[in-house]
Amino acid sequence: MVEIPQFVLDALTDVEMPRVPSARLPQSEVDIRGHRIPVYRSQAVVLGSGAAGLRAAVELRRRNVDVVVVTQLLYGGTSACSGSDKQTLHTACTGRRGDDYFRLADALSAGGAMDADTAYVEAVGSIEAMSGLQFLGLPLPEDRYGSVLRYQTDHDEAGRATSCGPRTSRLMVKVLAEEAIRLGVPIFRRSVGVKLLTSDDDKGRVTLGLLAIRENGRSDANPLGLAIFLSPAVILATGGPGELYRDSVYPTHCFGSLGLALEAGIELVNLTESQFGVGTRRDEFPWNLSGTYVQAIPYLYSVDERGIEHNFLADYYRTTQELASNIFRKGYQWPFHASRMLNHGSSLVDLAIFVESQAGRTVYMDFNRNPEPVSGDKPFCLDELDQDVRDYLTNNGALQSQPIDRLRCMNPLSIELYKRAKRDITRDPLPFNMNNQHMNGGIAVDMWGQSSLSGCYAVGEVAGTHGVTRPGGAALNAGQVFGLRSAKHISSNAAARSDSATPSYLPEVEAFVDVVAATVGRSGKLAIPDLRREIQARMSDNAGFICRAEDVAQALAEAKDLNRRIATEGIHIPDVRSLARAIQWQQMALTSEAVLLALHHFIAEGGGSRGARALCSREGTQVPMARGGALERFRFVSEQDAHKTMKIVVRMREGGLEVVQKPVRQIDRARASYFERDWVGFLTGDIYRTLE
Ligand SMILES: Cc1cc2nc3c(=O)[nH]c(=O)nc-3n(C[C@H](O)[C@H](O)[C@H](O)COP(=O)(O)OP(=O)(O)OC[C@H]3O[C@@H](n4cnc5c(N)ncnc54)[C@H](O)[C@@H]3O)c2cc1C
Repeated sequence: MVEIPQFVLDALTDVEMPRVPSARLPQSEVDIRGHRIPVYRSQAVVLGSGAAGLRAAVELRRRNVDVVVVTQLLYGGTSACSGSDKQTLHTACTGRRGDDYFRLADALSAGGAMDADTAYVEAVGSIEAMSGLQFLGLPLPEDRYGSVLRYQTDHDEAGRATSCGPRTSRLMVKVLAEEAIRLGVPIFRRSVGVKLLTSDDDKGRVTLGLLAIRENGRSDANPLGLAIFLSPAVILATGGPGELYRDSVYPTHCFGSLGLALEAGIELVNLTESQFGVGTRRDEFPWNLSGTYVQAIPYLYSVDERGIEHNFLADYYRTTQELASNIFRKGYQWPFHASRMLNHGSSLVDLAIFVESQAGRTVYMDFNRNPEPVSGDKPFCLDELDQDVRDYLTNNGALQSQPIDRLRCMNPLSIELYKRAKRDITRDPLPFNMNNQHMNGGIAVDMWGQSSLSGCYAVGEVAGTHGVTRPGGAALNAGQVFGLRSAKHISSNAAARSDSATPSYLPEVEAFVDVVAATVGRSGKLAIPDLRREIQARMSDNAGFICRAEDVAQALAEAKDLNRRIATEGIHIPDVRSLARAIQWQQMALTSEAVLLALHHFIAEGGGSRGARALCSREGTQVPMARGGALERFRFVSEQDAHKTMKIVVRMREGGLEVVQKPVRQIDRARASYFERDWVGFLTGDIYRTLE
């Protein structure tokens, strides 16, 4: 085995982030109800500084658009703070045999409910997205011929994934932040966007800018720390709603901005679709146990309250070979998928872990022991694995006798990583559980990333661009592609937009100040920690990957009631420092209702188990089998093909949430492009025009 120098491992694990200079001074101030609020003007505002937002900012600035970034935590969010054994970027495969954009688009949208134009632009755009990152210095691994090294990941039949190791997305943030700083993009840190400013013009509702609360912006004249960012283009790049679930592998303080978008009348889509899988708890070290962690085939066991150890997977799989091979397959079948519970597939591992956790047992992954045998069967043996598993380990030279040595051989960084979190997996077993990891749905956007509100774009996880299943790495790719495309779209129109007079934004700010100023310091009844507990417990217990169809209506009624109580009784905001957080929790309560409403609608329409959720019901037609027989408790409803062509849209109308269904957008694949005919559209900017 070739020894990799420690400094190489360190550089890919402890990623030092660049410092940013102070942001610009306000252009003016406005007096609203006695609050002197600074006003900043620019041609574009990006809210959030993850990989998606920074890509948008860099691409805008490179096109000479005056852009500012407003962000809660400069190096917070999932891109900078989360990962897995090797974080994956999924792109068209340029190496050796090339790729086919239509095949990649098919893979991206295979689970259904995804717009065909979105899938196609993500496929085509992945080349520019990736090469742009390489140009900025992202160390994607290559062979000596310059071909990017690839591997197979979740929902990926072609092996299109690549990675710089466990910190891939943090490295993406680093190179993009360095570039943003080089280009002089002003970055407003510790600033939470709380309200979109909008107005009606002859084309309908348009974006005017954003109202933010700035931690360092509080003064006697501006006690709430408010700041107004006026701009005809706002890009929401706020990441996923990581605080929605109790059982979650998101880093802490990830709120996203789905509630903020709903309040502005923006349409959300596919909120039913999230991903769940195994990882270490977020209150310890939120990290996914995918890829080589499981491909090393560690021993998975649980410990009950009396300290007794259980080889629980042996109750589910029929042979030791089947058990071990399915632990391995979790490597590239990481998210739970209902149909993979059938035929003793790999999601039976997830179900078994869920059952153990429900029984109050702690589940561990031990890299110093091979899996214990199924009772009555032969012991674990590397020669007795399914052929695909054996081939993978052989090809990677990973046939060492202990899991920790197989892991060290395949991916030494994965061990380093846990050492940084004070967990030595070469010595101690790792506690873990099933967690919420990603929101596939989000803000509905067109193929340029523009939402239903003109001038407001959404990129990265906050955008609902994924359908029901997404290949591993498609999230980072989508964020890059739409960061780039939204920048192209905005810059195509930036001059015209900045010339237009800004309509009055004052009434919306006045209304906000009236409500908020009256709330701070008053004793609202609902405390933030209680709100958090209530929302997260309801979501994890009723809308997780094992979901009982009959529980959802009740959960929705409770979520609605919570929003009613927030409106009538108020959130307790002890002082101005907790104001932004209180608003984020109020918006999260609204998001939670929206997700449950979409799920309730889907169930009422006869929706079944799809993506990473099993809809369990006595009426279901599918039953997973354990070694001892049918698992009737987890009988589930099958997916209907008709739902693959529909999207569930949730929006706020007249103060309440409503659901509508829309067909997925199609693309004419037969229409070839011809250079001379189509060049004109590029030269005139016609390509940016919205197609009816
Ligand atoms: C454990 C784990 C492993 C993953 N592995 C992969 C993988 O291998 N491949 C893959 O493609 N995807 C993976 N994902 C998903 C992927 O990491 C995320 O979807 C992606 O990083 C999101 O990037 P983003 O730029 O949209 O948001 P983020 O990186 O979350 O950034 C959001 C930014 O917005 C800011 N913000 C939020 N709300 C506000 C507000 N109201 N005002 C101001 N600022 C705000 C935050 O502070 C942050 O700066 C993984 C996710 C997790 C949790």
